[in-house]
Amino acid sequence: VVEIGTPERSVVTTCAYCGVGCTFRAEMRGEQLVRMVPYKDGKANRGHSCVKGRFAWGYAQHQDRILKPMIRKSINDAWREVEWDEAFAYTASELKRISDTYGRHALGGITSSRCTNEETFLVQKLVRAGFGNNNVDTCARVCHSPTGYGLKTTFGTSAGTQDFDSVEECDVILIIGANPTDGHPVFASRMKRRLRGQDGRPPAKLIVIDPRRTDIVRSPHIEADHHLPLRPGTNVAVLTAMAHVIVSEGLANEAFIKERCDWDEYRHWAEFVAQPRNSPESLQPVTLVDAEELRAAARLYATGGNGAIYYGLGVTEHSQGSSTVMAIANLAMATGNIGRRGVGVNPLRGQNNVQGACDMGSFPHELSGYRHVSDGDARKLFENDWGVALDPEPGLRIPNMLDAAVDGVFKALYVQGEDILQSDPNTKHVSAGLAAMECVIVHDLFLNETANYAHIFLPGSTFLEKNGTFTNAERRIQPVRKVMTPLNGLEDWEVTQRLAQAMGLGWNYAHPSEIMDEIARLTPTFAGVSFARLDEEGSLQWPVTDAAPDGSPIMHVDGFVRGKGKFVVTDYVPTDEKTGPRFPLLLTTGRILSHYNVGAQTRRTENVAWHPEDLLEIHPVDAEDRGIKSGDWVKLASRAGETTLRATVTDRVAPGVVYTTFHHAVTQANVVTTDFSDWATNCPEYKVTAVQISSSNGP
Ligand code: SF4
Repeated sequence: VVEIGTPERSVVTTCAYCGVGCTFRAEMRGEQLVRMVPYKDGKANRGHSCVKGRFAWGYAQHQDRILKPMIRKSINDAWREVEWDEAFAYTASELKRISDTYGRHALGGITSSRCTNEETFLVQKLVRAGFGNNNVDTCARVCHSPTGYGLKTTFGTSAGTQDFDSVEECDVILIIGANPTDGHPVFASRMKRRLRGQDGRPPAKLIVIDPRRTDIVRSPHIEADHHLPLRPGTNVAVLTAMAHVIVSEGLANEAFIKERCDWDEYRHWAEFVAQPRNSPESLQPVTLVDAEELRAAARLYATGGNGAIYYGLGVTEHSQGSSTVMAIANLAMATGNIGRRGVGVNPLRGQNNVQGACDMGSFPHELSGYRHVSDGDARKLFENDWGVALDPEPGLRIPNMLDAAVDGVFKALYVQGEDILQSDPNTKHVSAGLAAMECVIVHDLFLNETANYAHIFLPGSTFLEKNGTFTNAERRIQPVRKVMTPLNGLEDWEVTQRLAQAMGLGWNYAHPSEIMDEIARLTPTFAGVSFARLDEEGSLQWPVTDAAPDGSPIMHVDGFVRGKGKFVVTDYVPTDEKTGPRFPLLLTTGRILSHYNVGAQTRRTENVAWHPEDLLEIHPVDAEDRGIKSGDWVKLASRAGETTLRATVTDRVAPGVVYTTFHHAVTQANVVTTDFSDWATNCPEYKVTAVQISSSNGP
């Protein structure tokens, strides 16, 4: 328990939880954090915060923190504490042994969207320049990788189009697959302000497409004009039916399309969506969405003025995740809702630095700035700067690394800041992959679930113990400032640098600002970014280039980054995950306000002690059929596995749908999720699992 004292100093830094990117004044007494005060000049939060950023920092000095490196020969051995020098020398020798024995492709690394841009950049550099391959991935794989693919394909760059301020100019807000109240609370408040009407202006209209009646559908002074409670897994069908209405009723903005998009591709797409099989009535048996309600929603989005689409993981974490992102982009282009304030396509990024992790080249096919590794000119730039030849072939994604491990050809993994055993789908498969490796290096704050399979543990540092930058959901790069001395003695970027040095790489960064200078040198969209400017201006929204020296709050203003906007035909393809007599219900997942993802931080803070367990929401009809009441223990089982939770009987979910959170290790919700994933990016299909529910006596 932290004893509140009088602060002696304060440091402005950025929250390490969600993609809103609130800034805080961290008030300190000696090396003790006294309180986090929302920063009134924060461009993303303007003095506001949610309960996590304000109070959930107890984990930073929690007794569970591991502060000394540890090694062990086998995962059955006890850990042995070692000094940093021995840890780096041993890790480097193990990586060399494995590379010499099995070849350089037997090694890989995973970076985290919780880490700074500078740390992430160094991990992908270590893999590319040190391991000698492109086997680097990030936890964005399991959340917003379809955003990267979908927006790059249609618009030309993998990022949301708007700044948060833009919401004030919306006339119609369309939310699909997102629960901003719980997932992005501070931005949700701004959205709600617009939905209630502000500054004498009438409130914006609201369309929500979600299988669950999320808070924003009905909250004080807000009632969604249209809530489309679709069957999980049918996003593409709903969006195609909306496009059908817009095209067949002559509501498309043809002047915009002719000027800004490829007209032939539009015509091809328009012919596809206009087919009778794509009407709301034809698709109603698939989507379970009332056709008239859907028609009204489509008309409102197309004709209601400035229409902005906000979406979350309910869009991306599907076998058609990338198709759904492109279907959203199609709708925005068809209605001319791109390139000005109040419109656009806005992915609500989950973790604090998902945008940044993707920007920094932590995908196996892309260098920083979204340039494909096969692009010889881009590669040359890095090769000249780093003094090594780079592999032109894309590397392995996280699930491919695990598959290759099970097949015996992938042997060593460096995981920085991600608990893949708890957060990735089909836990049994993840553990089989990890168990098959000879060297698993976990670089983290705590001995997490993945560390059960680790041979080397490198202690990490919290956001309070480091300098660097995070990039939020509106492409806003903001400073992260060291508030206290790292308890383990090293910032995370220093750990990666020391490991690189032990491997013989001649890295010599004295400060993360020098890493940002390198990022700016090698990444055109970051060309004008520096720590000096961030200190002076508070934040910058990329692209920051000669053409946009002050940054870019809105993208695609005069033209799309790719030139002409690209319409892509996105036919609805049902998921392979099927319900049936044994598994008759569909499970979908989500977050609650007070916890964050696998809960490693929020579960370790006594300030956020509520919601002590994950809950399963079930509709009253389904509950009655099974004799289940609120508070009962139930067994949740799928083809992949089973777990036990307490039930909450509620009509927030539709009949046939159940919902759970995934914050507690004891629940391990991902033991039930499947191996199905997005066709383009392998983002797991967390949002659709066929399950059965039955009464249980408890865990
Ligand atoms: Fe942190 Fe997100 Fe909450 Fe802001 S809204 S305080 S960034 S968790």
